[in-house]
Amino acid sequence: MTTPNISDPQQVEPTPTKRVLLAAPRGYCAGVDRAVVTVEKALELYGPPVYVRKEIVHNKHVVETLRRRGAVFVDETDEVPEGATVVFSAHGVAPIVHEEASALSLKTIDATCPLVTKVHREARRFASDDYDILLIGHEGHEEVVGTSGEAPEHITIVDSPDDVANVEVRDPSKVVWLSQTTLSVDETMETVRRLREKFPQLIDPPSDDICYATQNRQLAVKQMAADTDLMIVVGSRNSSNSVRLVEVALEHGARAGHLVDFADEIEESWLDGVETVGVTSGASVPEVLVRDVLDYLASRGYQDVQPVVAAEESLLFALPNELRRDLKARSGAEASKVRHDAGSLH
Ligand code: SF4
Repeated sequence: MTTPNISDPQQVEPTPTKRVLLAAPRGYCAGVDRAVVTVEKALELYGPPVYVRKEIVHNKHVVETLRRRGAVFVDETDEVPEGATVVFSAHGVAPIVHEEASALSLKTIDATCPLVTKVHREARRFASDDYDILLIGHEGHEEVVGTSGEAPEHITIVDSPDDVANVEVRDPSKVVWLSQTTLSVDETMETVRRLREKFPQLIDPPSDDICYATQNRQLAVKQMAADTDLMIVVGSRNSSNSVRLVEVALEHGARAGHLVDFADEIEESWLDGVETVGVTSGASVPEVLVRDVLDYLASRGYQDVQPVVAAEESLLFALPNELRRDLKARSGAEASKVRHDAGSLH
């Protein structure tokens, strides 16, 4: 038997155990799934081109795939030809966008996530009761632009905890906070804490504005962050919830964290000395992109993949009404054509 040479560090150092912690839930949420299927079905039903105002969801791969199938992405409604079909993205739009579309006689399909629509409703309700609404969210983000467009004269955007010092309201006894759906839960609570210090009568939203998908993905990352040397988040840079996942990972103990759209963006050097890699993806990311990352890691010795399950999700949203109506009309027309054809055989 060979006795290990303890003076030789090569022989006594344990072999690093390479493994992957894979977050669950990750990837597509109900709102993204609905929005992507909406564009797919619209392309099938009406034929290309189908115009989409803004990126349907913030993911490069999804947008490119739909573009290849005939979706035309535009920044503003006035880029859509008169009478054409336009889909509004999952992030929601301000009422003025509906008015612009109607002036151009556009056929609109609204793929706004129902959980964003809920925040719009809250904004309208508090504005009609003459509240000052402090909307916690990122200035310029499409969702925040859409929500604040519901009642611009009542809404003040609060971008971060540090922004609170500059917030002024008309009547401190009539103030409510609402938020963007994809924020960091912890940072938002800190902003609320500071707002409440300043405005003790601040009212909470009737229910959570940060959506279930954002919360669950952050929860999974929090559970695994301290055990990871490197967290890889699959998602695009303009995806708020994906960017937040990297921040949450670093705040909760991950030694390093990176956001990648595709596996080929991973740099070899990130893996130097890394035993445990955490992997997750934002709510607009298809699973195929996570599979590519897992394959990349497996080819470098990270074959042991251990799930970290923070929550189960089963929510599904129905497609937008206007699309369901047209799909139903088409299937009715097809059924009657089949009946007619069958009848003419006799
Ligand atoms: S992240 Fe949340 S709010 Fe945004 S589309 Fe998904 S479920 Fe809706």
